[in-house]
Amino acid sequence: MDLSQNVKAVEEKIAAAARAAGRDPGEIALCAATKVQTDDTIRAAIAAGIRLCGENRVQELTAHLEANAYAGADVHFIGHLQTNKVRQVVGRVSLIHSVDSARLLQAIETQADKLGLRQDILLEVNVAGEASKGGVSPEELPRLAELALACPHIRLRGLMAIPPVSTVSGANRKYFSQIRNLFVDIMSKMSDNQYNMDCLSMGMSADYEDAVAEGATLVRVGTALFGPRPPMSPAQ
Ligand SMILES: *Cc1c(COP(=O)(O)O)cnc(C)c1O
Repeated sequence: MDLSQNVKAVEEKIAAAARAAGRDPGEIALCAATKVQTDDTIRAAIAAGIRLCGENRVQELTAHLEANAYAGADVHFIGHLQTNKVRQVVGRVSLIHSVDSARLLQAIETQADKLGLRQDILLEVNVAGEASKGGVSPEELPRLAELALACPHIRLRGLMAIPPVSTVSGANRKYFSQIRNLFVDIMSKMSDNQYNMDCLSMGMSADYEDAVAEGATLVRVGTALFGPRPPMSPAQ
């Protein structure tokens, strides 16, 4: 596996998908999904041009931060976040992608207030109604967005979604399009521009080009950069 080559190939595909959709490739950020990767692999990815890492698990985030493995890149939290682990994440990442409940929102607000900072977040939407996944339903989204906007130590930057896993090319386009519509709708309701709702996080290795075609501003890519992962242990 050649990381530099993979980074270049993924960046080229993002740029091509953007141009085909009449978009500026510069609008789309590539977030390397670094779960299960070692400190050295993360350093190699950054040396190969990765500017943003997305971490899934609090334990891995903490270890990589202690090892200074992300030097030269920005870090986001993209995994499911438990309320009791918020203290280990708030203020340590520039964006939390996976906020999906009022309880989690409140825990982040409390911790950000304590640290005297403002935490950027996305709300995670469960657009296909999959019971096994996190994310707020499209129906509940406006209420949660209003709660987020009322939190003085939180800045709502946009939405994140993980559509169903599919092996059929193009199968997720309809979900990406639904998510984009939700994003546009929320933005128009919260037209006060101080909030900078500019981030639509969707698309992974199997479908990031479709996500870009449908308006993603950030894609989270693991396998296409790092190769297949070993099976994961159950989530903590
Ligand atoms: C693992 C992961 C990804 C990347 O998945 P790949 O299919 O390996 O590209 C993206 N987003 C989240 C939230 C993940 O957990």
